[in-house]
Amino acid sequence: MIRVLNSQSYNKNTRAAWVLLFCLAVFFAYAVVVDLHFFNILTLGLLAILFFIFPLNIYRKKKQVEAESIIEQKQENINLLQADINKLELATQAFRTKIVNYSQLKGLTEKLSMCLYVEDTSRVLSAEANRLFGSQDTTIILYLFHSKTGDLGISASHKGQMQVNLKSKRGDIFDQWVVKAMQPLLVEDIKTDYRFDVDKFETEDSRPIRSLISVPLTGGQKALGILRIDSPKENYFDTEDLRFLKTIGDLGAIGIENAQLYERVEQLAIRDGLTGLYLRKFLLDRMPEEFSRHLRNKAQMSLLMLDLDKFKQYNDKFGHVAGDIVLRTFAMMVSDLFKDIPGSVVCRYGGEEFCVLIPHCDKVQARDLAGQLREKVEEQAILLRREKTHITVSIGVATFPDDAGVKEELILKADQALYKAKEKGRNQVCLA
Ligand code: GH3
Ligand code: MG
Ligand code: MG
Repeated sequence: MIRVLNSQSYNKNTRAAWVLLFCLAVFFAYAVVVDLHFFNILTLGLLAILFFIFPLNIYRKKKQVEAESIIEQKQENINLLQADINKLELATQAFRTKIVNYSQLKGLTEKLSMCLYVEDTSRVLSAEANRLFGSQDTTIILYLFHSKTGDLGISASHKGQMQVNLKSKRGDIFDQWVVKAMQPLLVEDIKTDYRFDVDKFETEDSRPIRSLISVPLTGGQKALGILRIDSPKENYFDTEDLRFLKTIGDLGAIGIENAQLYERVEQLAIRDGLTGLYLRKFLLDRMPEEFSRHLRNKAQMSLLMLDLDKFKQYNDKFGHVAGDIVLRTFAMMVSDLFKDIPGSVVCRYGGEEFCVLIPHCDKVQARDLAGQLREKVEEQAILLRREKTHITVSIGVATFPDDAGVKEELILKADQALYKAKEKGRNQVCLA
């Protein structure tokens, strides 16, 4: 701009100089030809003008320099203000994104708080991470550690808008890195990330992966699992994405921990602590439903009542701790026999008495199953302090609807049959 102003004033000055020169030439010609006296006056006038113009020009130049420096300063201020505006615009944009993110997180928290079980929580967490991050080709995987084995296993996964079933159940080198470091991981491009040997890397799903973010899920000091998102495009994620995933992961971890706690409490309420079998109350609550179902289908169902023989003597001889081991071993034998019979319920009725409800089972089938169990128990040696011991069991069998129409009656009939077995000398099966 200064340069434009300079060239404009230069042009103006040149034009004025030419005009002045032209006038001078005319006056000079007039003075020489017409009046020599006038020539002197003209020379004096010219000198006076020159005397006046010279300081004026110096003054003008000084002013021009001042104006140029003011313009430069103003321009600098404009630049600074522009930089501030840009910064503020970026901050506003980031703030807006944060508001959107937080409102989305609020939705996630509300949905998680409605889940009671680990399975629901996993599904919601994976679906929400997909909603917040997912695109057509990103894959979201939620791994959880198995509470008993400690192995990492896929709990939920999403690709695009779909739930997917991935083949690689235990995770790849990136998941192993997160498990080991228990730190969030951002891989912008797996081909250029020196931490991972890309030649060894291959997904079992032959799913192309170029970039990923992954965060560990922790509850207090306990590692719960990993939440990870990968993409076939390089540089798909940045640190801001990783930070947001970490927040989602932290909220998810709280949900998973709560669900695990809920499931444990629920198990404690319906399972016996010593044997892990259902408690009597669970069976009694379940029976009315089974009665109406079998009545509707005109089907039979049977109930076995089991009681260990002379268990008091066993306790007296080997001690209560040994007695507990026997109860646990016996519970495993019963569960093992009935595990393949769909819908069967094995429960600890109380003390050394057990009960099995077998749906869609007539009396003959029930008697055969009870016979198999009795034989298995009789044959099974239980090792106590390097000594082989044996127990036997007496079993009473009653069947719906032949022996009883309501649950109390069915239990009573099975109990009476058990009593008969005891009276007949124990270690046998009796029918109602
Ligand atoms: P029967 O053949 O007539 O059934 O004789 P029994 O000795 O098995 O019958 P009884 O009902 O007199 O004794 C049951 C014993 O079971 C008494 C009790 O000490 C034992 N018992 C009950 N619950 C437990 C338990 O949780 N652990 C252990 N170790 N023993 C238990
Ligand atoms: Mg008893
Ligand atoms: Mg007994």
